[in-house]
Amino acid sequence: MDDLAHGTRDKRGDWTPKNPADIAPIWAFPPKPLTVLKWLPSYFLPYDVIFFASAFAWWYWVMPDMDTVRAFDLASWGTWRWIIRLFVVNTVALFAFFGVFQLRLYTFRKQGTRFKYNGQFPADKQSDVFWFKRQDVDSALRILFHAMPIWTAIEVVILLAYAKGYATWWTLADHPVYLVILTLLIPIIHETHFYLIHRLIHVPVLYKYIHSVHHNSVNPSPYSSLSMHPAELLLYLGMAFWQILIPSNPILAIYALHRAGFGAIPGHVGFDKIEVGSEGGVDTHAYIHYLHHKHFEVNYGDGLIPFDKWFGTFHDGSKHGQELMDARYAKKVAKLNKSAAE
Ligand SMILES: [Zn+2]
Ligand SMILES: [Zn+2]
Repeated sequence: MDDLAHGTRDKRGDWTPKNPADIAPIWAFPPKPLTVLKWLPSYFLPYDVIFFASAFAWWYWVMPDMDTVRAFDLASWGTWRWIIRLFVVNTVALFAFFGVFQLRLYTFRKQGTRFKYNGQFPADKQSDVFWFKRQDVDSALRILFHAMPIWTAIEVVILLAYAKGYATWWTLADHPVYLVILTLLIPIIHETHFYLIHRLIHVPVLYKYIHSVHHNSVNPSPYSSLSMHPAELLLYLGMAFWQILIPSNPILAIYALHRAGFGAIPGHVGFDKIEVGSEGGVDTHAYIHYLHHKHFEVNYGDGLIPFDKWFGTFHDGSKHGQELMDARYAKKVAKLNKSAAE
């Protein structure tokens, strides 16, 4: 597929899409009903349908029944058996899912650099910031030793909350309208939670000790998705806890968790389109978050809700977007210099 029909490549080999990044068209003014209609399927497809289905699969095939959870006792081998099983299934599933992207696009480089924002592959450049000097090894190990234990612990807390009656468990039979609306709102809760914690961990001291781990991947690749400091993982994957704080259902809590965990990949895949066959392709919607990794202080959100537009930190990847960012940085530097001189 000719990526130059869809964008341009500069001298360094970096590819830029022809169409700048944009926020969800529901916010357009004057309204664009036709564009919204065309965009609507992407609210569910392909990712949310996958994570919603995986939540059901986990609930019916992977999670222990509520009696087993109720008998929770860390001194008992029976409890550890289901926790370890959960950890193993989560870890295998995560590496299988992320691995498809990693192997195809980064290990075997099936697509070369077509549609790749950054012309370089992280594996071609070793760096001291990474364990074993390699971004992919560093990220995979952080996922294995930090992300998956925290992910599993969050699941255990959610299960316990429902099993012990601390969380309000509503069923579809009793509250169908509420649960359908809540399901549709989960991407919005995700976006709001993500934006807020992301702004928080960009506060200089928190950035230095916590969020800088994630930003070591300036040129993100699939495993960068959950390559985070444990504190950030807890804040980020912990968005699933909203479901035990409000009346909800355990399946929705798992969906929210899968959406955060498995769903971290689109923003870090590094390619605008994943080619399918010789002429087809799936858009990744990775550009907004790629620009965040590249420029740091833009695009704290993913554009479903226009927080970055409201607070002046949106970068659409165009020349104009770059000028706006440069002007904002210049203003910030001037302010810093002024306060240093006083
Ligand atoms: Zn990221
Ligand atoms: Zn960040």
